[in-house]
Amino acid sequence: MESEYAFAMIREIIVLGSGGGRVVTMKQERRTGGLAFLLDDSIFIIDPGPGSIYHFNQLHLDPFLVKGVLLSHRHPDHYCDAEIYIEAVTRGGNVKQGLLIGSKSVLEPVDEMGYPAISTYHKNLPEVVVSMAPGETIVYDKIKITALKSFHTDLYAIGFRLDDDKRSISYFTDTEFKEEMIRGAESSDLLILSVLRPGNKRLRGHLCIDDAIKIVELLSPRMVLITHFGYKMIRAPPENEAKKITERTGIDTIAAIDGMKITLSKSFESLDSYMKNR
Ligand SMILES: [Zn+2]
Ligand SMILES: [Zn+2]
Repeated sequence: MESEYAFAMIREIIVLGSGGGRVVTMKQERRTGGLAFLLDDSIFIIDPGPGSIYHFNQLHLDPFLVKGVLLSHRHPDHYCDAEIYIEAVTRGGNVKQGLLIGSKSVLEPVDEMGYPAISTYHKNLPEVVVSMAPGETIVYDKIKITALKSFHTDLYAIGFRLDDDKRSISYFTDTEFKEEMIRGAESSDLLILSVLRPGNKRLRGHLCIDDAIKIVELLSPRMVLITHFGYKMIRAPPENEAKKITERTGIDTIAAIDGMKITLSKSFESLDSYMKNR
């Protein structure tokens, strides 16, 4: 990557919640908090579902360090706690600062989805608010963010690729497998996939493990993290399913655990992950 963006580093990724889908969200069999990306001196939150802000605080993270909120689509397991984070970013709405990115369906009224997920009031709080479509890119806080294509029941859903000084991390939200989805996610160091279902138990608009294997084969990232597990995946369990990806592709794959912290080494030669109950 060109060093035009080369200033910030993503130091750690924290799994605020590894659950997803309607049943797991209702029953909270796994948390539905999304992901926190810890940068040099700020935090980006991706897809904070219900309970996210609670678990964020339980992990002793500081809400006032949150500078960016990224929302992939208009389903509550992805945006539910976003307005609370927007208030944290903007010091309760008193300081116009920070970044809010959403799919069009999150930020604007669209088709049958009606009102956007985020209120006009909250949309007016941050300094930069961007409704992104696949292929579009912005640079904020020295991180380059690219929207990735997604094939989901929310037709506007997008994934995110984040490029820092040294590494690139691609996050795919709920999506069906299609070869063209990989465009923009090439040569990612870490690939994060939302894999709702185990094995070949495909559900429309979502990935199963067989789909994940195809994506990993196409993209050959250095490492893979699977997350956003539905109830069938939780019972598989995810660790066994992650092993299938490793065995088939030869690429290290880990299954997310609630509260898991992933430290990104500078060279990305290793990816340390551990469960921390702080
Ligand atoms: Zn979801
Ligand atoms: Zn969804």
